[in-house]
Amino acid sequence: MKIGLDLDSTLFDVPDVETASKSLGFTYTSEDTLSWTLSNYPKILQERIRDLWFDESFMCNLSLIPGVKDILTEWRHQGHELYVITARSPKLTFSTEKMVNENLPGLIKSVYVSGFSGTKIGIMKSLELDLWIDDSPHGVKDAMIEDFKTIMISNAQTKYNHFYRERVPWVNSLSEINLNSYL
Ligand SMILES: [Mg+2]
Repeated sequence: MKIGLDLDSTLFDVPDVETASKSLGFTYTSEDTLSWTLSNYPKILQERIRDLWFDESFMCNLSLIPGVKDILTEWRHQGHELYVITARSPKLTFSTEKMVNENLPGLIKSVYVSGFSGTKIGIMKSLELDLWIDDSPHGVKDAMIEDFKTIMISNAQTKYNHFYRERVPWVNSLSEINLNSYL
């Protein structure tokens, strides 16, 4: 199978809320994020979080979500092809690829950076993906409209997508996915 993976909050943990909050003297954590647009946070915090998304030293030095490397290693051994598609700023392309290849050596065939305003669908179609895995509610929705088999990553840190749980198969993390049921 050709499996497409989102990057942030699917493969890597992004402590953006924690980092931005701390710098401003707030105590919010990712578990407090109730909407994709960050609308439940003070404006100044929303801006600081968005600034971090363009901060190369922050975004390209993240840690893998526990279990991710093991499950992707297993999938590779089973012969699946793994692709990463991220909506990050294209300015971060080089360092993002570096972070992926250092943390998941030999596991990811290619990393695609679609940019914040773009959609991932064109890349997903050109790769002819068999499965798409993502935490973003609109990413999941777009993929389903285009008939891609889709799994949503949904857990305590992604309350912004809980409203979508009734409409798509979801798991807390990659390690909970049994690929056999998608073959
Ligand atoms: Mg994501």
